Amino acid sequence: MALAVFERLFAGRWIAGPGIEDAMAVARRFNKRGISAIFNYLGEDLRDRRMVDDAVSVYSELIRRTGREGVRASISVKPTQLGASISYRTFVKNYNRIVKLAKSNGVFVWFDMESHGMVDTVIRAYRSDMKSKDTGICIQAYLTRSYDDALRLARAGAIIRLVKGAYKESPDVAYQSREAVTANYMKIMEMLFRESRHFMIATHDLAIIERARKLNRRYKRNVEYAMLNGIRNPYAVSMASRGESVSVYVPFGRAWLNYSYRRLKEAGHLSLILKSVLENQAI
Ligand SMILES: Cc1cc2nc3c(=O)[nH]c(=O)nc-3n(C[C@H](O)[C@H](O)[C@H](O)COP(=O)(O)OP(=O)(O)OC[C@H]3O[C@@H](n4cnc5c(N)ncnc54)[C@H](O)[C@@H]3O)c2cc1C
Repeated sequence: MALAVFERLFAGRWIAGPGIEDAMAVARRFNKRGISAIFNYLGEDLRDRRMVDDAVSVYSELIRRTGREGVRASISVKPTQLGASISYRTFVKNYNRIVKLAKSNGVFVWFDMESHGMVDTVIRAYRSDMKSKDTGICIQAYLTRSYDDALRLARAGAIIRLVKGAYKESPDVAYQSREAVTANYMKIMEMLFRESRHFMIATHDLAIIERARKLNRRYKRNVEYAMLNGIRNPYAVSMASRGESVSVYVPFGRAWLNYSYRRLKEAGHLSLILKSVLENQAI
């Protein structure tokens, strides 16, 4: 009962619905407003090979339909959906399958970044294939290692999606206060303007977005902005109407609990949670 209320109140605002068709319908609505979708099939830390195969099949179907139906969308995959918790070999085999299929359907593939223990695995797999230019990697500003990772990747030509970071990490590896995370985000972002031609600023932090827009008047990079569905939809629409390149991350599937929990935790205090529920996110 409590879960059903939670799902109705919160998950329904952030998650397109259980199936591919739900995600495609939300993407089409965003496309009409000049915004691309970034599809994510919910699910993480899969240790059962059948569940990994199921995730690969869902992504394969999604890629085919996106290509065939001309929906403006990329996909964003969690490494542990492709078997990174089982073995590096399983992950890379599935990674290559998805990337190959996406390439032949003209669909860009992002790799989500999960917990700190996965970072080396994801960077290693990404670097072995990044010449294709059809894939991008997420970097989390809350990790103290991320400036160096982002610099090395940017210099090697990677396409980086910069986020603050959504997992619980220890003080040995991650900045803990919002101020310190934001400061590191700004530092990495400024470096990306100098070192990279194409990257994504994925945040709802308006001060960061304004700083990026200002920097880009000088650097004229290919900067994409991205937000999560249901958090600042009207703002995303207004940015797109001002000519910015904007995407919205559209999760779908039945495994909505962990995702929703992270969004609630970020909203932090009750007033923001209530505001988020009451605010009109219709586009
Ligand atoms: C496109 C995209 C892809 C992402 N991919 C990853 C990934 O692969 N790995 C990863 O670890 N994280 C990922 N994230 C999540 C990210 O790390 C942050 O957890 C999330 O974006 C919140 O941080 P923020 O940058 O918006 O800044 P915050 O400082 O958290 O928020 C800035 C402001 O935005 C508003 N806001 C933020 N969140 C909420 C909310 N839930 N409800 C209501 N208002 C809110 C508030 O007004 C807040 O003050 C992704 C985020 C985006 C937008």
